[in-house]
Amino acid sequence: MRSSDPQQRPVDSGTVTAVLKRIIAENGREHIWGYVVAIGCLVLVALSTAFTAWIMRSIIDEAFANRRADVVWIICLAIFIAFVVRGFASYGQAVALSKIGNNIVARYQSRLYVHLMTLSVGYFNEARSARIAAQVSQNVGGIRDVLNLTITSTARDLLTFVALLGVMVYQDPLLSLAVLILAPPLLLALRYLSKRLRQATKEAIDLNSHVLGAMQETIQGISIVKAFTMEGQLEEKVNKIIVAAEGRANKIARLSERNAPMTESFAGFAVASVLAYAAYRSIYQNVPPGAFFSFVTALLLAYDPARRLAKLQVQMERAAVNARMIYELLDMEPRQRDLPDAKPLVVTEARIELRHVAFAYGNDNVLDGVDMVAEGGKTTALVGPSGAGKSTIINLIPRFYDPKAGQILIDGQDIAHVTKKSLREQLAYVSQQPYLFEGSIRDNIRYGRPDASDAEIEEAARLAYAHDFIVAQPEGYDTPVGENGVTLSGGQRQRLSIARALVRNAPILLLDEATSALDTESEAAVQKALDEAMTGRTVVVIAHRLSTVVRADKIVVMQQGRVVEEGNHETLAKRSDGLYARLNNLQRPAASETF
Ligand code: ADP
Repeated sequence: MRSSDPQQRPVDSGTVTAVLKRIIAENGREHIWGYVVAIGCLVLVALSTAFTAWIMRSIIDEAFANRRADVVWIICLAIFIAFVVRGFASYGQAVALSKIGNNIVARYQSRLYVHLMTLSVGYFNEARSARIAAQVSQNVGGIRDVLNLTITSTARDLLTFVALLGVMVYQDPLLSLAVLILAPPLLLALRYLSKRLRQATKEAIDLNSHVLGAMQETIQGISIVKAFTMEGQLEEKVNKIIVAAEGRANKIARLSERNAPMTESFAGFAVASVLAYAAYRSIYQNVPPGAFFSFVTALLLAYDPARRLAKLQVQMERAAVNARMIYELLDMEPRQRDLPDAKPLVVTEARIELRHVAFAYGNDNVLDGVDMVAEGGKTTALVGPSGAGKSTIINLIPRFYDPKAGQILIDGQDIAHVTKKSLREQLAYVSQQPYLFEGSIRDNIRYGRPDASDAEIEEAARLAYAHDFIVAQPEGYDTPVGENGVTLSGGQRQRLSIARALVRNAPILLLDEATSALDTESEAAVQKALDEAMTGRTVVVIAHRLSTVVRADKIVVMQQGRVVEEGNHETLAKRSDGLYARLNNLQRPAASETF
């Protein structure tokens, strides 16, 4: 999760109190009225609970000792009303808190989503996407829980507890004192448990995201898994993580439930002793039993809130761990911010120039002083063996990454000094693997330019030779695609992604030609669509087809991060000792059309 880049090191969000302060600072004001309602209801719950304990004395003494039928029914009515109030107040606080909680989850989800998109492409290479997904979905709940636990526990449980304590002290101060002396050792023991739980929870979340990550990896690479018969090895590997996660979850269960035997034993002892004492007083000292019953009722009713209060810290720790992880993600700085003096890019010819560009993903240089020009309105083909650095050049132009040294200029403007938005607006990109998003065909093309009209989308689809197959789909342009949509062939997906690039109508087109074989008919359609997309634009293409290379205005031959030859097909093919000539000859005998 943590990156080695100092800029991306998350800010430590601190202890539970620090997390709590931050959550309240960020959300408290927004929901102030909701909290007022919830707290009002919680006060009612506390008071009505205490009232039912307090009234016990009257009912016992009046009904059983004094036998006063006239007051008994008033008391019973009061008890009934207290319960009704308690019911409605419980309902009110639960609904109010849930509404606030759900809103907090929703707001953090959108904050995180927006934030994730600002992080650099490099971040997503480093952090496994499943871990990110696990963090987002699991941990947002933590923030809601921290807040709700604080409110419910402090307001309802603490108030109820204090009110019941008041009843106890009022009815029998001596007994209350005895109970209060016995309670603190219990609380100390619980504190110790909470410390151990904190560590176990963090480990469990980590392990769980590993499980998720491993599963997602397997699903994404299922064809590789099957082709290499990796099932056995993977099963063993993933099983180990799953078993570890299970063990950790069991440990958490043991730790967080360990306070049950302790508190139950204590409560049993307390109730039994109190009963014995009260029976003694009633039998030998003739004290009326009302006060005693009221005391016992208060004690029994106080048990639940006290138990929850004792558990509070444990739960807060757990919720805070989740909340803290969310903040770690939110505090991560986008690696490439626009420079303070960044200006919008102004494109005239769309001439791209790389000057002594060096780049490394890690420590090893992938590009080593690359000088290259892609002339405005012309097609420049990048060729060379795999790993030569062709895709890296394509990645540097939209600033997915920044060069370690050197400059990239578009019409004389260093792209490091222009705003990323204006730079990317001038670019269209067609990747090797066409990616379609959840939504309709129309939506997918419109991602190229959100303000494109339906007519423009259709026009782009026609130019990309996609219109005919689109209208043949069950709902035409409104047919859903993406994960849950219709299945399109590789060629059709490619033509949609070309239509997306066409509708953008940007002066620069970055193109990673697909290597995967298409059937001849699709191949011809994709080729025609590409020709359409390439006319009149500055094109930088990673060329795999001989036909693309032959027709390119300029060919840049790369090897091990350097430009080794430059020219057009005729001149380069003639150099008998050149890399291009060798690659060209290598391809020919097999009559393959791929480069
Ligand atoms: P080409 O497109 O010519 O095949 P690339 O630009 O993809 O070459 O890769 C050049 C080198 O950079 C290769 O050695 C590759 O392993 C490495 N590389 C590519 N992408 C990454 C990445 N995201 N992280 C680390 N190394 C990478």
